[in-house]
This record gives sequence, structure tokens and C-alpha cells, in this order.
Amino acid sequence: MITNEKKTVAFKTLGCRLNQYETDALVTDFSNAGYELVDYNASPDVVIVNTCTVTNQSDTKSRSVISQTVRKAKNAVVVVTGCMANNFKEKLERQDNITFVVENSRKSSILTLVDSHFSGEIVHPDQLPQDVFRYEPVRKSLHTRSAIKIQDGCDNFCTFCIIPMVRGLATSRPVADVLESVRKTVENGFKELVITGVNIGRYEDGAVKFENLLTMILELPGDFRVRISSLEPDGFGDDFVKLFAHPKLMPHLHLCLQSGSDKTLLRMRRMYDVAQFRKTVKQFRAIYSDFNFTTDIIVGFPGETEEEFQQTLDAVNEFNFSHIHTFKYSVRKGTRAERLENHLSEKVKNERSLLVRNLSVENKMNYFKSLIGQKQDVLIEKITQGTASGYGQHYAPIRFKITNGQRNTIQTVRLTELIGDDENCYLAGELVL
Ligand code: SF4
Repeated sequence: MITNEKKTVAFKTLGCRLNQYETDALVTDFSNAGYELVDYNASPDVVIVNTCTVTNQSDTKSRSVISQTVRKAKNAVVVVTGCMANNFKEKLERQDNITFVVENSRKSSILTLVDSHFSGEIVHPDQLPQDVFRYEPVRKSLHTRSAIKIQDGCDNFCTFCIIPMVRGLATSRPVADVLESVRKTVENGFKELVITGVNIGRYEDGAVKFENLLTMILELPGDFRVRISSLEPDGFGDDFVKLFAHPKLMPHLHLCLQSGSDKTLLRMRRMYDVAQFRKTVKQFRAIYSDFNFTTDIIVGFPGETEEEFQQTLDAVNEFNFSHIHTFKYSVRKGTRAERLENHLSEKVKNERSLLVRNLSVENKMNYFKSLIGQKQDVLIEKITQGTASGYGQHYAPIRFKITNGQRNTIQTVRLTELIGDDENCYLAGELVL
């Protein structure tokens, strides 16, 4: 064992839940090896920047964090990993102030790389083993809930998406590994697990499909609850819907609609149409009337007419999403959408994005109001000056007064009112004793 005890490490993470999970797993790795986790501003010995490249905006943000890091942490070992490290590998490798550029498939071995560096061994990141599932179950985390990675990559090749190029084709983690990871993460004290991957609905290990795996996870003993991070709205049936009757599975899905127009969905090469999406939403709400749906919408996709955009607004209203991640379409080099005709102006994209955002806030407020009067079990994430905040089963943000509470405990709260009238609105409640 090398003299890691005095070494400090800091992390910066951009992008999706999968990236956040992978950072949390690296935090656990480094802390098990004796590194001290410090703030990014505290001159750490090692800084790991886990980047995102899903949109042009993500590239800009990732680039800006990298520049900030190399400026601030002049003497640190700077490791750049994540999707941008795949997408712009050679460019990043030419930057002298970055010590290592590590592709996603080798991210799980970053500790080995850094340890070798400190012991004077010369290891090139490309010599590290490729294993997207080798991560330790999360013990020390930057978050209250822990993700469980079950899958990586995607074979769908939606025309706008760069992910299959940077995360590779779909691959599933073996069932036994997933279940072991759940057991250990629960033993490590996590009360809420988020099932994560790039396209988790396509999970497949032999005869075990996504809903079979989910059933096995829910059957495991222990005091924990389960969320699903984000799902493509294709390929699941009645049995999946019924699973949500299980008390451990939370009544919320982030189901990515992207557009309310079948013509746009076809150009995006999505695997469903609006009628299928409607059927799914109806199936859920027929059983669980207050089920919470959130979604992603891309506005200004090439060729999107006024009429097609109006269909998206109609769909947003019809499905009553409580939250929408709105993305303005931006060209990703190497994707098929880059070559589509009729790219829209920034002005039109901005206008459309604003309309979706405004509608999204309205829907959010309506949905949250519909929960007032209900009892919710809130996982406390933070307590500040006697006010606890966290999320209830439906993934609505909730705050309430507490005198003797603790982070990472679940408390029952009766919802009394909606506070705020913008994107950041939340529900206030009273503790049920
Ligand atoms: S389903 Fe489409 S949008 Fe989602 S990761 Fe796969 S290719 Fe990208």
C-alpha cells in the first residue's frame, strides 16, 4: 500500500445520473484506499472531472469546468473522464495541463491509474482494463440516494443522439452482480436506490428481462425503496405497470417523450408513437391516479413545423408532466440529424423552448397542488435551521419543520400548501407524529 493517507481528492461531475453514480462509486474507491475527500476549491492532490457531451451546452460546461480545474489546481493530478473524454479524446490528450484522459469503459480503474502515478509507475490509461460494471457498491457518497447501475450503452441510434458513440452498444450487468450490489448498498445504509443505465428497459441477462430483474430487487430483504431513473417509452407491458403496486417501488417515472408529433418522432427515429405513449400513461393512471410522470422534450428538431410543435404543446398538456427537461435541439457532429434538412433558427428554438418551459411550470404547480392533503414519506436530504427538505414517494420536493430529525431518515408528512410559483416551487407539510 502506498502512502495514500495524506492525499486528497476532489470530484466535479456533469451530466446524467449514470455519471453521478460512477462518481459516487469512485468516491467510495478513493475513500476505501485512504484518500481524503475534499472540496474542489481546497487545492486537492487529485481532481477528477467526470464530463458530459450529450448536447453542445454540455460540451461548453464540461470545457469550462476543465479550464477552471487546470487553472485552480495547478499542482494537482487532473483526470478527465466521462462522455466528453470519449468524444474529444485526442483533443483533450493534447492539453498538457490534463494528466490523464480516461474513456468511459476504463473509468472504473481510475484509482489504479492514480495510485500508479503516485508510486512512480508509468501507466497509460489505454492499458487499464475495460469494464463498465466493475464499480464498488457505493458506501461514501455525495448524495443521499444511491444509484444501482444495471446497464450501459444503447442500440437505438436516435438520429439526434451521440450516446451510442460515446457509451457503446447496449450491455447488461449480470443479475447476480446487480443483486449483490443492491444488498451491499442497502447494508451501507442507503434508504433509496435509483435503478440506472443508459437504456434500462432493454436490460437482458439470459432469460431475465428488466421487469424480472426489478421484481428480484424488490423482493430483497431490507428497509429501502426503489426508483427508476429514466425510461424509454417502449417495450414494457402490463406486468411492469402492476409492479408499481409493490410498496418499495415509487410511483414516478421519467418517460422520455421528446416530441408530441409522430412525424417528428419518426425523423428522430424513436421507437414509439404518441398513441403508444398515451396508452402507457393511461395504463398507469388507471391504476395509480396520481402517478407522477416527468419527461424530456426536444424543441426545434430539424423540420419541426408550427403544427408539429403545437402537437408537442398539446401532448405536454394532456399528459400533465410534473417536470420537463426542455432541450433546444443542437447539432451533434456525427449524428444523422446533422444531415437532416430545415434546421431551425436559434430565435424559433428560443421561442418554442420558452413556451414549453412556461407550460411545464404551470403543469408542475397543478400536479403539486393535486397532492395537497396527502401523506407522503419523505427521505430527508438536508436539515437547515429546523427545516427538513427531501422528496416524497412521487418525487415532489417537500419541506417541513422538524426538531429532532436526521438526514437519511424517512418521515411521514401531511402536505399543506404549495410554496412559490416558478420552476423552484415546492410543497410544505407538517410532520405526522
Ligand atoms: S434511446 Fe435514443 S436518446 Fe436514448 S440513449 Fe439511446 S440513442 Fe440516445
